[in-house]
Order: sequence, then C-alpha cells, then structure tokens
Amino acid sequence: MTVRVRFAPSPTGTLHLGGARTAIYNWAFARRNHGVFILRIDDTDPERSTPENTAQIIRSLRWLGLDWDEGPEAGGNHGPYFQTQRARNYTAALERMKATGHAYPCFCSADELAAKRDLTRTTGATSGYDRTCRALPADEVARRLSAGEPHVWRLAVPLERGPVGFSDAVRGETEFPIESIDDFVLVRSDGTPTYNFATVVDDADMEITHVIRGDDHLANTPKQILVFEALGRKTPVFAHLSMIWGADGKKLSKRHGATSVEAYRDMGYLPEALLNYLALLGWSLDGETTIVSADVLTSSFSLERISKNPAIFDPEKLEWMNGAYLRGMTASAFVDAMAPWLIEAGLTTGEDIDARRPWFESIVPLIQERVRRLDEVAEKVAFLFADPVLSAEATDKALRADGASAALRAARDVLDEVDFDAASIEEALRTVPEAVGVKPKTAFQAVRVAVTGSTVSPPLFESLEVLGKEATLRRIDAALSQL
Ligand code: GLU
Repeated sequence: MTVRVRFAPSPTGTLHLGGARTAIYNWAFARRNHGVFILRIDDTDPERSTPENTAQIIRSLRWLGLDWDEGPEAGGNHGPYFQTQRARNYTAALERMKATGHAYPCFCSADELAAKRDLTRTTGATSGYDRTCRALPADEVARRLSAGEPHVWRLAVPLERGPVGFSDAVRGETEFPIESIDDFVLVRSDGTPTYNFATVVDDADMEITHVIRGDDHLANTPKQILVFEALGRKTPVFAHLSMIWGADGKKLSKRHGATSVEAYRDMGYLPEALLNYLALLGWSLDGETTIVSADVLTSSFSLERISKNPAIFDPEKLEWMNGAYLRGMTASAFVDAMAPWLIEAGLTTGEDIDARRPWFESIVPLIQERVRRLDEVAEKVAFLFADPVLSAEATDKALRADGASAALRAARDVLDEVDFDAASIEEALRTVPEAVGVKPKTAFQAVRVAVTGSTVSPPLFESLEVLGKEATLRRIDAALSQL
C-alpha cells in the first residue's frame, strides 16, 4: 500500500509554527515511506480565506524546504487541490449518503436550534441536536424539499453501532460513546460543506492512508469516522499531535512572541534550523541527537517516536540551534545566506557580491562564530563598507585616553610597512604598546575605534586584513586629524 498523506491548511492566516510542524511530519512520513505528500488548501471558509494567505503558506512551506507531490503548483491526478473547487465531489458524496439513508434534511430554524441546545444543556444530554427532523415521515420530507424550504443535511448517526473507537498512532486506543456524537451538519443551507464532511470526502477521494494533524481535531475524529463508514470508505490511520506550549504551559500563541514561519525567516533564522527545531518538537530520533538534518529526518521519521506529551517551545534553544547551523555552513553558503541582509541594510548590492565573492567569503570567519541569527550580521560588518563616523563618546573613551594618540600614530607607521595579513598585522601592532609606553589594551582599542568606529568589533587583526591596508590607513589618518 502506498502511503498517502496530506497537509490541509486553511488559508485564514499565516502558516504558524504548529501548522509547519504538522506539515513537516506529514512530509517526512511520506518521504520515509516512499509515499505521496499532498498539499490541499482547505479554503471553505469564504470570509476568512484569501489568495494572499494561500500564497504565503506555500511560500513558507517552500522556504522550509518542503516539496509536495500533489497539490497547488504540483498538480496531480486527485485534484483540484482547493476545497472550493471540489463542490462536485461533495455533492456526489451527499447523494450517496442520501441514497443509503445516512444523511437526512433538517428544516429546523436557527431559533429552534438555539432553543434545543439550551434544552439539552439543562437536561445534561451530550448531544446538541435532538434529531427531530430525523423522525419526519418520508412524504412530509419530500413535500418540504420540493417546496424549497431551507434546510441543512445532517448525518444520521448510527446509534446502534456502539462506541466509535480507533487506535491513534500517537495516543493509542481512543474511544467516544456513540451517544456523544451529534447528528452534525454535513451540508449547510447554502449548499456548502462543513469541515467534517468536506475533509472526509477529500481524504477518501484522495485515498489518504494516514491523517497526521493537531490534536485540536481529536474530537472531530469520531464524526469523521462515521462519515467514512457511511460512504463505505476505508478509514485512514489517525495520528494526533499534541499541542505546542509556551514555557508557561499555555498553548503557543502571540503572547509567546512571533508564531508565523515568515516572522522567523525575517528574524534571521535559517530554514534548515527551523525545520530541525520543529521536527524535534514532539518527535525524536533517539532521544539525544539534537542536530537532525532534513536528510536524516526523511530517512528515519516514524510515528512511533512521536511523543504524547505537549512539546514546549523554547526560543533560546531554537536560537542556539540556528547558531549551530550558521557555524556549520561553508563560507560560500554563508555569503548566500547573509547576502539579502547586507543588501537590505544598504551595505552592498547583489552585483557587488557577485563581483567580489572571494572578498565576501573572507568576511565570514570574522562573524560566523559570533552570531546566532542572520539579523545580527549587517551591524557587525557594517564597518567594512563605509568609513566610520566617530562618536564623541568613542573618541573620548578610546582616542583621548592617555597615550592613545601616540599609540595610534605609531600603529599607523608600523602598519604602513607590513604585508597586510592578520599574522603580520598582529606582529606589527604588538610592538606598539611597549614602544610608546601604553597598555596593549589602550593601543588596540585606539586602533579599533579609529578603524571600526566602535569599541566592540570582530577580532581586530583579521578585521584589518579584510578591510585592507588602504582603508585602514585612511581611517587612522582621519581619526588622528580629529584629535
Ligand atoms: N483545514 C484543517 C485545519 O487547518 C485541516 C485539519 C485536518 O488536517 O483535518 O485545521
């Protein structure tokens, strides 16, 4: 049997971390089992679904490195992959269910239904709808339908069936009493399908074998199983993922900071790192390994290793992991990753990077070990792109310190004489403190501030090498002229 799984986002907002994790698990499960990963857009909520949200979800999934075999952009022979374009399937399924007596029309008005709900609440019954219309005589139903009376279509829950149980791949045996299941609405009075109906029709028609999704849908599952059965279709395996919590034990939400995938992209996270981090939010390779590449994930993912317990989102750990991924990059990959950030900061252009690639790669060792996010890079390397404007504070602190200007002058003289590699620069500059009688720190800070404009910078000697002799001397001269 070919594994067929789907990720079915509703385009009512951005792709958030929980949705991304669900997508990653479905994708990894499909890849691990040489199966098919389907992207389906559940856009049945016309008020809140937008093409922009769909585009943004697709962009986020692609950015994370996910690919799908069927769905928007990919095509496939189980399409269309937008629920709003599948009305024919829902109509056909409803017709089947009407013919077999699994669906019946309900003519109750909204007011009547509200009154019934109040009643069931006070009597303690678990079902929200008292099944009034299920008992209507066939001729009355026919008459009211042909008169065009507004109605919805409800599932006739098979009360004699007994409890609806299933073996959840994550949570184990799960059971719901049949009495707790409402004769819920399949098709609304305007002809649109409800989530629990459309999802099952699609999952059946798309031959989905495993439904991997958040456990906020757990209570929907018995309803959906009843629809699968009513349609005479095989029920897929269900795997319900525990929620992601913030550190306070509450469901992850805006309160805990950014939740959308693109917000993480914009904060300078690498897709590989976010993928890795999300994969481990509820699944583990062996309980120890923290760096799990996409290749390892797609060759070893299994439902058995998904945890039942809620996963706690730890932004610190994500940031650490991002740093680990940044450190593991080749200089060339690092340049590609930082390029948009440098361009965005106005430091350079794409053409410049292409033209001077080796020089851009020489920047990488200055910062690779020192940043955890790409949004830290531009500020750290800005001094390489423009001569600094010296602040009064930096000047007072480093350039007007005792002996600083003498040290700076001496540094200029020795630097003028050396080959401009970090080792030679270091050797030359280390002679300065003794020669002018200042502490090494005074001399080095004077050079640092003169050249970078700041008292903190990447390692000095390496920075000067990357900056080059001409710019270094020019900056020192400019600083000296201000003293
Ligand atoms: N569109 C639903 C959601 O985003 C899909 C749930 C499911 O996977 O069945 O929650």
